[in-house]
Amino acid sequence: VASSPDEPGLLAARTQAFAPVQEHYYEAPPRIERGWRHHLIDVRGRGYLDMVNNVAILGHGEPRIADAVERQLRLLNTNSRFHYGAVVELSEALAARAPAGLDTVLLVNSGSEAVDLALRMVRAATGRADVLALTEAYHGWTVGADAVSTSLGDNPHALATRPDWVHLLDAPNAYRGRHRGPDAGRYLEDALERLEELDSAGVSLAGLIAEPIFGNGGGILLPDGYLAGLASAVRERGGLVVSDEVQVSYGRLGEHFWGFDQQGVVPDVSAVAKAMGNGHPLGAVITTRAIAEAFAVEGSFFSSAGGSPVSCVVGSTVLRVLDQDGLQENARVVGALLADGLRSLARRHPALGAVHGMGLYLGVEVVAGGPDAPDPVAAREICEDLLTEGVIVQPTGDHKNVLKIKPPLTIDAAAVRRFLGALGRVMELREARAAL
Ligand code: PMP
Repeated sequence: VASSPDEPGLLAARTQAFAPVQEHYYEAPPRIERGWRHHLIDVRGRGYLDMVNNVAILGHGEPRIADAVERQLRLLNTNSRFHYGAVVELSEALAARAPAGLDTVLLVNSGSEAVDLALRMVRAATGRADVLALTEAYHGWTVGADAVSTSLGDNPHALATRPDWVHLLDAPNAYRGRHRGPDAGRYLEDALERLEELDSAGVSLAGLIAEPIFGNGGGILLPDGYLAGLASAVRERGGLVVSDEVQVSYGRLGEHFWGFDQQGVVPDVSAVAKAMGNGHPLGAVITTRAIAEAFAVEGSFFSSAGGSPVSCVVGSTVLRVLDQDGLQENARVVGALLADGLRSLARRHPALGAVHGMGLYLGVEVVAGGPDAPDPVAAREICEDLLTEGVIVQPTGDHKNVLKIKPPLTIDAAAVRRFLGALGRVMELREARAAL
């Protein structure tokens, strides 16, 4: 185990005390003590630009969240069995943001819980068990959410070990998959054929679960019309559509508040978390009254901390601050600046392939010659070099070769210039070293 320059021994102690399945990415990770907006500060007072934190959507150390938590914690923090105003305020605010018809909310503590509950709800509403999922997807760690997770970056055995109620469609990856660029429309044709095969095999789907943009896959947009076509084919068969909004919603895409808006689809059930609590454990399922009622027939639903008064004031404050500070618009404007800068770096440095995504949800491919040669070693080295530049970026994707770039929505043009300057220097140095 590498020792951290900040506190030799602490990293080794972490490895002893903490399960070894949790990555910390760096050889010698800095020991982070505090955060402020899109900056992290280590115990030695060194600042880092946080380019990966899509959970702390409002930035770190947001005082309006801290004040709301403190006030509510001193008043009341019990569970949603009791009647209090905060749960109504948050549920109404979420339903008001959702498309017409998605007017009923259930509150939980995380994305995995939201996905798990969403799966139970589509099963209850249809009386069926089977679910359609896409490859290259991550939906969470609980038994249900893990069953529909297929990302090889998280579990190299995922495709061989899904339970028999999970049916897979090839990820419509227009960069590296079977159909590329302008041919990506053919993924929908393939998916419709697969549905016909399932029909012939007598499989009745409870529904489809999909990320509307591949999050862990590296910010890859689905081909235009893909989700809409697939959703209507699933619905024709009596199935329901679950959108996993855990990564890409809450205005991060700039032009859209919800991920499914980007695909022009209204799901039957939407699973939300991460940004919803700005780091506080909070998630939600937003669905129709009819689906919620069908689920209620199965019995009551109760989560001890999901929808607690503190969680609810956090949730309502996040939505208020997003609006007050115009952060969705910032994602659109600053995200465009960032994507332009990344694309111009990718033109100059052959190891940088496509730039995926939109708004402040971007991914940069690191490749050794093209889409078929993903380069996870280089991606990791680039992240290490960026750390020395004081920038936090981490790799993602099935091949762990995509730089995930999804900073707090507070990021501004000056921070974008700093990041692009650092990445440019790192790439130039790599090329100079390779030329020696
Ligand atoms: N869905 C998606 C798309 C995610 O990216 C994640 C987390 N990375 C989850 C679900 C699970 O969320 P959580 O970690 O809050 O359980």
